[in-house]
Amino acid sequence: MRYHSTRNSQKFVQPSEAVLQGLAEDGGLFVPEYLPQLNFENWLDYSYQQIAQSIFEIFFSDLGKETISKILENSYGSNFDHLEIVPTHWLNDEKGFLELWHGPTLAFKDIALQFLPHLMQAAKQLRNDQSKILILTATSGDTGKAAMEGFSAVEDFEVLVFYPYQGVSSFQKRQMLTREADNVRAIAVKGDFDTCQRGVKDIFVDQNFNLKMAEQGYELSSANSINIGRLVPQMNYYIYSYLQAVKTNKISYGEPLNVVVPTGNFGNILAACYTKEMGLPLGEILLAANQNNVLADFLFDGTYNANRDLVKTSSPSMDILVASNLERYLYLKNPDSSWINTIMADLTNNGQFSVPEQFLDIKAAWADETETSKAIADVYNSYNYLIDPHTAVAYVVAEKLVKNHKTLIASTASPYKFITKVLDSLQLETPESDREAINKIAKVIDAENPTIPATVEKLWNLNQDEEIIIEKKNMIQAINEQIFGNL
Ligand SMILES: *Cc1c(COP(=O)(O)O)cnc(C)c1O
Repeated sequence: MRYHSTRNSQKFVQPSEAVLQGLAEDGGLFVPEYLPQLNFENWLDYSYQQIAQSIFEIFFSDLGKETISKILENSYGSNFDHLEIVPTHWLNDEKGFLELWHGPTLAFKDIALQFLPHLMQAAKQLRNDQSKILILTATSGDTGKAAMEGFSAVEDFEVLVFYPYQGVSSFQKRQMLTREADNVRAIAVKGDFDTCQRGVKDIFVDQNFNLKMAEQGYELSSANSINIGRLVPQMNYYIYSYLQAVKTNKISYGEPLNVVVPTGNFGNILAACYTKEMGLPLGEILLAANQNNVLADFLFDGTYNANRDLVKTSSPSMDILVASNLERYLYLKNPDSSWINTIMADLTNNGQFSVPEQFLDIKAAWADETETSKAIADVYNSYNYLIDPHTAVAYVVAEKLVKNHKTLIASTASPYKFITKVLDSLQLETPESDREAINKIAKVIDAENPTIPATVEKLWNLNQDEEIIIEKKNMIQAINEQIFGNL
């Protein structure tokens, strides 16, 4: 498989180059040259790891079978607290939650980020690349810790995470300020997620800074979902969960299974679009947004308008106005890079662009805070199952848009990460100490046998760093300080 930029379909790179580079030089995103047609029915008896192996052999072809098999051993094993890695919890015959949060940081980002560091190391070896790699990552809360966890103590890699100051949950902040190795660190930026993301993107295209880093033996890369190494692993769980639904007699092979995806940067849902394009018999792919419903509006009438204020919601990982991966979706629907250049220039210059409605094949809806709370309470009261606010947003949208047919709702985070909103929704008080709040959630989940996940427990056994708070304009300075110790 070769990759090229969404903004230039003439220049190809190998998978390992695309992974190491992150963003294409022209500011576009790497996309695969083609999406192969596969007969997934032949994969019915595959384990999660076998599906991953087969997909990675296609999309990271230059690494070769054996290397892929070796890195997979370290990616999806006891670092997940469920043997299936991504189990589905069916509420009834119609609706199931695809639990994507059994990894070490309790959100779906682990699925890609427990693998990406191994992938990057293998890519470096293959390319005989001696440089150190500095991973710069903007996070709305979950990616940051998942990147820190994945790259913790990985040789030749440094990770700097930028998160919005006061824009993440108290649990997420604790996660980012407790580290087990010196090569990973998080910094708070005054602003919102888009501020962080724009800052990181500016640094990537800053020629001066890149030159200076190169002189020091460093290359820049990204662990954000702009990296193709993030996107590809997310295809595996749609394939696996569809096939499991067949194996457990929820559907027969070929029967449509809808998926509803709580969306921020459009990475998770794009992976669903790719698998459907490759022949997985998914039904409708439905986008769920919170009150920052720029994507829902776009899918409704074809006009993307980011000129609006970002609202802080209880589902902060979806508090995003400029969804990077949308560019890949648009390229998928209309593979014309000069058109992509035009609309992306519109977005940069005017904060908006329009596309013909015929390109859009995803339906969308959104949920406000009241609906989100009601969903958490309804699911808990009716099914004795606790969901986090992001998952709840998707549940609301499933209720709004799905009339019949079986539906998988992507459950992207554990309720432990968003305790206050979850307890509020159940009309329970949140204890002041985080520790007691954790105990309370454990009891809500299982009154008879409250069990706190080991990954949660760990956060209380580590020292917390002082929070470093900076302005966006000082991001490069902060990098210099952190990496080279100079002021
Ligand atoms: C990142 C994240 C999302 C949004 O996923 P995208 O791929 O950015 O659309 C949704 N929910 C949770 C919990 C997340 O961490």
